[in-house]
Amino acid sequence: MGDPGPTGRFGEFGGRFVPESLVAACEELEHAFRQAWADPSFHHAFEALLASYGGRPTPVTECTRLSEELGVRLLLKREDLAHTGSHKLNNVIGQAMVAQRMGKRRLIAETGAGQHGVATATAAALFGMECVVYMGALDTERQALNVFRMELLGAEVRAVHSGARTLKDAVNEAMREWVATVGDTHYCLGSVMGPHPYPWMVRELQRIVGDEARVQCRSILDGSDPDLVVACVGGGSNAAGTFAGFADATASQLVGVEAYGGAALTVGVPGVLHGMRSALLQDEAGQIREAESISAGLDYPGIGPEHAHLAAIGRARYVTAGDAEVLDAFQRLSRAEGIIPALESAHAIAWVLAQAGKEIPDGSTVLVTLSGRGDKDVAQVRDLLGARAGTGERV
Ligand SMILES: *Cc1c(COP(=O)(O)O)cnc(C)c1O
Repeated sequence: MGDPGPTGRFGEFGGRFVPESLVAACEELEHAFRQAWADPSFHHAFEALLASYGGRPTPVTECTRLSEELGVRLLLKREDLAHTGSHKLNNVIGQAMVAQRMGKRRLIAETGAGQHGVATATAAALFGMECVVYMGALDTERQALNVFRMELLGAEVRAVHSGARTLKDAVNEAMREWVATVGDTHYCLGSVMGPHPYPWMVRELQRIVGDEARVQCRSILDGSDPDLVVACVGGGSNAAGTFAGFADATASQLVGVEAYGGAALTVGVPGVLHGMRSALLQDEAGQIREAESISAGLDYPGIGPEHAHLAAIGRARYVTAGDAEVLDAFQRLSRAEGIIPALESAHAIAWVLAQAGKEIPDGSTVLVTLSGRGDKDVAQVRDLLGARAGTGERV
């Protein structure tokens, strides 16, 4: 989990598969980020802002009741307590700071469910930058409240009508727009995906999650690292940031949990999409398949290239959780600990609930990154549970 160097390769994955017109923009960004990341004053300003504005460091909470029920010691890294309710702010604040160093006055972003769009609009408001967010037209209908949030924050939301009118199409459109406006515009990409330097840069901006958690766990676990470190995986940024903090904790097993219907690593095959070579959901003809999951934040048809590499070399393993188990985990964590998780984060919890006493031996210590809070999902979960009412299941 080091620096992939100028080619941006993680083993056979990663790289920079972009049109000629974007090569210079990616190189300029890589250069600016390398300089910033080597500059102690940048780190100081980044961490100070994440503390005073973002609410960092987020705590690690020990789940005493659930631990007792499960027979494992469960710790949660609480990204749900960060400003805007998830880990996403770390990435957008960092990228906005790099954009300012490059003299850009405008941010563009893609968004699926709207969470990365809201985070980018937040950073743009904080820095007084212009902001345009590309969002699939279907998603603007499904996530109307997030569209309004972005507008409240001063951003313009542009609906994308091409393709399936979802996240994949929004990324394509944002990349096209970046080519045309690169002089004054930074493309604030939302996860550890896309062309080099994004997968590396976003992982580095998110490593604050893992670095904090490592120290916090050691203090709770009398100097040891957890036996397992678990995080949900959409594009893979909260998992990458978490895993980075435990890179040399070789006794800690790293586990990424994908949505069953968006399991790019578990059932995908290598290919090129959005400027990177990685594991992708494809049909027999090589066409990208739409991912399907109850959690909009996990239904990206690809995964960050570094995760594909970590799986290939066996440093991390990737598993899945299905919608029904995720709904159960959502309710169980709420009741047992008073923490309503994001549906994305509930995937990581669901895997731990399913495997405690099985693949996770009794007495293990398990750190789960709780990537976000569940307020945004409460109405959807109510509808999903309502649809099951009358079947005899507890609601
Ligand atoms: C966006 C999001 C995710 C998925 O993104 P990653 O890049 O895989 O971290 C997971 N959890 C929450 C709460 C999110 O908002």
